[in-house]
Amino acid sequence: MRSTGSWYEVRTTEGSILQCRLKGKFKIKDLKVTNPIAVGDKVAYDIENETENTGIIYDILPRDNYIIRKSVHKTAHGHLLASNIDQAVLIVTLTFPRTSLGFIDRFLVSAESFRIPTVLVFNKLDVLTEEQVAYQEELADLYESMGYRCLFTSATNNIGVAAFKEILEGKVSLIAGHSGVGKSTLVNTIAPDLDLPTSEISTFANKGVHTTTFAEMFEISTGTFIIDSPGIKELGLADIEKEEISHYFPEMRELLGECRFHNCMHIDEPKCAVKEAVVEGTIAESRYASYLSMALGEDNRK
Ligand code: GDP
Ligand code: ZN
Repeated sequence: MRSTGSWYEVRTTEGSILQCRLKGKFKIKDLKVTNPIAVGDKVAYDIENETENTGIIYDILPRDNYIIRKSVHKTAHGHLLASNIDQAVLIVTLTFPRTSLGFIDRFLVSAESFRIPTVLVFNKLDVLTEEQVAYQEELADLYESMGYRCLFTSATNNIGVAAFKEILEGKVSLIAGHSGVGKSTLVNTIAPDLDLPTSEISTFANKGVHTTTFAEMFEISTGTFIIDSPGIKELGLADIEKEEISHYFPEMRELLGECRFHNCMHIDEPKCAVKEAVVEGTIAESRYASYLSMALGEDNRK
């Protein structure tokens, strides 16, 4: 669920909480990371002291997926942020603060690269003008057409909150989005017992609920978990080559193999199916712009 220094909080299958340490010299197997274990990991443990609720973790079960925050130094080891995530829930706002389409697309590409499905939640519906509502609906249609579920919510006016609750039910969800978009407020509306502090500037993991800087998991109702982390605002990319970026744009992935050159980067090559789709309007210009900024970017790990 979370870690504080060398202690790891483990939720048992029965729902109780154990404070655990890692057994002796714990080997990190396949990953190039500095930490052996992360929020979301499923572990095998032995009870150490029953009255003090402590245990020893001796094994980590295979992970369905995981997010690694890479070091700025290409050769150095990264940091394992979270694992076994059923979905990412990206909370965005058109205004106060404005979430850019570039940010949304970058997040979606990262989530695709980590094999994590994403739901988009457009919050603060109550502050939007009619034009902004219409624009937001167009955006939602665009993202729905690629397979991303979209919700409209107002955490303060209790709009769409039931749907928000429903998408989380029984899953492990990574809650992401810029500071101030209403992550804590939304979560509080469906899990008042957590009582996460809200404010304009910080995400709930660094508001002093617990003293961790990395991801932590909350059980908001039995079997329903959310992960929050100040470090997961932007996911970063899995270890992928620039040539692969278009594979993580679902509408470009569909055109795979239709460009004249099999290694087409969809930038200035002739007979490029992606560029033709942009001209025809079947690929949105905003999406192609996001693609270009990632494909041409000096450092796509940011
Ligand atoms: P976080 O940083 O993403 O956790 O954002 P918070 O939950 O702390 O919310 C930031 C601010 O936005 C607070 O002042 C909230 O009251 C406000 N807020 C959150 N949701 C809504 C909403 O749906 N509509 C409006 N008008 N304000 C909201
Ligand atoms: Zn192409």
